Amino acid sequence: MAFVVGEDCIKCKHTDCVEVCPVDCFYEGPNFLVIHPDECIDCALCEPECPIDAIYSEDELPADQENFRELNAELAEVWPNITEKKMPCQTTRIGKESPTN
Ligand code: SF4
Ligand code: SF4
Repeated sequence: MAFVVGEDCIKCKHTDCVEVCPVDCFYEGPNFLVIHPDECIDCALCEPECPIDAIYSEDELPADQENFRELNAELAEVWPNITEKKMPCQTTRIGKESPTN
């Protein structure tokens, strides 16, 4: 099992979450982050760090965000790794696209 970044992250990207991940399994796209499910050790440290509760345990993912399970797995293979927090002003104004664009 792994943790999954859901759709609310598309509007945020404060990246508080990446600072606490002991295995650096966050990956950064143009408008949100994803977690690599094979690298996540299910420690739950990132979940309380997200100010808008966009991170879910896989088994608690809302039904209308089931597609994010697959998206996290697929996009973590192609997006670059992110391990340090970024300032929100660098990232928050590009978040209106669909996650697959
Ligand atoms: S803190 Fe939450 S909303 Fe912000 S980048 Fe991390 S997962 Fe996304
Ligand atoms: S649950 Fe732990 S290992 Fe998985 S993404 Fe969050 S901080 Fe990283």
